Amino acid sequence: MDCKKTDDAVWKAVDLEAARQERQIELIASENHASREVIASMGTVLTNKYAEGYPGRRYYGGCEHVDTVEELARKRAIELFGSERANAQPHSGTQANMGALMALCKPGDKVLGMTLDHGGHLSHGHPKNFSGVFYEFHGYGVEEGSERIDMDRVREKALEVRPQVLLAGASAYSRPLDFAAFAAIAKEVGAYLMVDMAHIAGLVAGGAHASPVPHADVVTMTTHKTLRGPRGGLIVCGADWIKQINSAIFPGGQGGPLMHVIAAKAVALREAASPEFGAYARQVVENAKTLADGLSERGLRIVSGGTDNHLMMVDVTAVGLTGADAEDALHRVDITVNKNLIPYDKQPPMKASGIRIGTAAVTTRGFGVPEMKRLATWIADVLAAPTDEAVAKRVGAEVVELTSTHRIYPETQSV
Ligand code: PLP
Repeated sequence: MDCKKTDDAVWKAVDLEAARQERQIELIASENHASREVIASMGTVLTNKYAEGYPGRRYYGGCEHVDTVEELARKRAIELFGSERANAQPHSGTQANMGALMALCKPGDKVLGMTLDHGGHLSHGHPKNFSGVFYEFHGYGVEEGSERIDMDRVREKALEVRPQVLLAGASAYSRPLDFAAFAAIAKEVGAYLMVDMAHIAGLVAGGAHASPVPHADVVTMTTHKTLRGPRGGLIVCGADWIKQINSAIFPGGQGGPLMHVIAAKAVALREAASPEFGAYARQVVENAKTLADGLSERGLRIVSGGTDNHLMMVDVTAVGLTGADAEDALHRVDITVNKNLIPYDKQPPMKASGIRIGTAAVTTRGFGVPEMKRLATWIADVLAAPTDEAVAKRVGAEVVELTSTHRIYPETQSV
């Protein structure tokens, strides 16, 4: 590409990042490898276009072709998730959540969501996030023994708090969410039900997790995690909510939409509707279960005893480590994970007692059950001897041998 000659400083870093992604095993649960078609759609002239407003009602001229693109994205989201309406404009998951909360309630209103230290997300009430600044957030968590959400306890909390919005969805919870039960509680306490399915959107699309769409007033998501699209947000909802949602996204929280990213969302949503994507989603879950079983067999404790989705939380205190130590030790052998608080953690967030591991990205590059078994052995070996140079050297070499035979983008270097 010409830009490599004209802006070597940036492109050197892009090429290095491409090489890093090819070389390392990516186990960060919120990441994935988008298709080359999705990536190519973002590198288009659509980035030049201002299109404030919505298809057919824009504040700028010349929008006829970007209207086509946004209509395709909306239509494909509606078909994929079986909703009545969709808004494809949120720049991110956080902005999708901001739009949903602005539509569903007023500043100062009460929202009941999962606490951050038990697996919720920053945009579910962190004091420095817009959500915690503008709304009165209350929390439910997981139970101390089972480390699962107990819907009776959520109901008790909802009856006590009487929130305007009940929020279901998490960043670090490995068990299915019972959307029908959340809906029944919301109805009983007179709350709206908002579901943030950012992490599991691809599993829902592929039929590997129950859908919240029939139960929730508004469903938000990111398009870049298990859904395997471009970095961005998306909202699906019923016809009765779309006017408020559209106005909350634009002009409520954003200006011009990122039309090049919306094109990539349309491409990804079409991919996600394919039978191959359903097989992918099921493989992501099977891979997660295999990896969790392999790690438990080696004495690592999996929070709640296992997983039913694409991620697991691994308590590394049993092997005498903090999450930060484990993240560092695995990084040295080209396995990328993130440290994470586990429920009732005694460590501060920058140390944490756990690591979060997800299988969405490795499944995209073709890892299956045999690779998961090898991976479990490598992770356990490294965490059992985090400072042992011989172990690091052996595992590091095996990792690179495996990734070199499972390329993400076989034909090119950086895109
Ligand atoms: N909601 C949940 C549950 C998430 O896990 C995340 C991101 O990790 C988000 C929202 C926010 O997405 P973004 O980083 O695009 O703002």
